[in-house]
Formats: sequence, structure tokens, C-alpha cells
Amino acid sequence: MVLPIETILANLSRRGFVAEYYETKEDALQGIMAQISPSETVGIGGSMTVKELGLFDELTKQGNTIFWHWTDKSGQDVRPKALLSDVYFCSANALMDSGEPVVIDGGGNRAAAMFYGPKRCFIVCGVNKLVHGYDAAIERIKNVACPQNARRLNMKTPCAITDKCTECGPKQRMCRVTVRYSYPMTNRETHVVLINEKLGF
Ligand code: SF4
Repeated sequence: MVLPIETILANLSRRGFVAEYYETKEDALQGIMAQISPSETVGIGGSMTVKELGLFDELTKQGNTIFWHWTDKSGQDVRPKALLSDVYFCSANALMDSGEPVVIDGGGNRAAAMFYGPKRCFIVCGVNKLVHGYDAAIERIKNVACPQNARRLNMKTPCAITDKCTECGPKQRMCRVTVRYSYPMTNRETHVVLINEKLGF
């Protein structure tokens, strides 16, 4: 069973993450925007959670320069620019109640930017991402998150068809790198924002 929210927030803080908690995504959006200066450049990883939060629109209204490959219309790959932004937003595929975000990436841009590049990073998670233990994190990612992401991307992975991971081969595989983020990088401000709503996959 997943630990109580107060314990999870304490575990995040104990590890050195800046732990934030909001009851609703509207509160979270307000709380996050209060911490972002219009002069800061912002990178965003592929994240349904960030999309559902409405962060892109608010940052655009505020005048931030944003590098997000989901919305960019330049025709260029802006993911390297996102990696060099002042602030980076993404989600995790699972958040262990021990205070450790876990991600599995196919492209690696999000995993990399979480711990290298941007000066500050915000990892935003709904409570649906909470799990107890590493095995549960991997189980969630492989059999809950990945199948939905594969369908969203119209990929024909086995998990997209059956909702079950078969540890498919390298040609079609989305799961290429796994990061268990146990402690934030030294001298790098890393926020974990937990929201008491179901957000993303
Ligand atoms: S390894 Fe393959 S089948 Fe398993 S979750 Fe990843 S993409 Fe899906």
C-alpha cells in the first residue's frame, strides 16, 4: 500500500528534492507560475501531465521563450534547446513513495534533462503515478503508462495491443533507458510537484 502523502513529501525533502503538494491542477499551475520569471527560457518534455496542467498557455501568456517539441512549429528539433533551458518541466512515469521518481524513455531527452542541463527542473505528477516500491514502479510503467503512450503515438508495440509488456525487441521498443532518480543532482534545484488528481498516464 502506498504511504500517506505527508510521508511521501517528507521522503522527497529528506532526499533533497523541493517537495510541493497541491490539491488541484489549478492550484498547482498558480503555484508553479509564481516561481517562473518571464525572462527564463523553458524546456518541456513530452508529457500529458504538463499538457493537462495548461502550463504551455500560461507560460506563453507570460512571454517566456518555450522549447517544446509537441507545440513547436519551426520544423526543427527543439529538444536540444530544451536541454539548455533555464527551467525544465516534465513528469515521471511513476513516483515511488520513498521519494524517487522513475522514468523509462524511448528518446532519452526527458530522462537526460531531468538530471543534466537546465538549471531548475520541475517533475510534475498526479497521485495516479504513486507506487510502493521499485517493482511496482516498473510494473506500472510497462503495463499502464507505456501501452497508453504507444497507442497515443500510434505505435504497434505488443503492449499497445494487449496492455501487457512482452519485453519486445529493439526495432519497435519504446523502453530504452530507465532512470530511478534517488537524489537530485548536487547544486541543482529539482522540484517534485505532487497533485491530488489523476493526470497523464
Ligand atoms: S518493452 Fe516493449 S512491450 Fe514492453 S512496455 Fe516497452 S514497448 Fe511495450
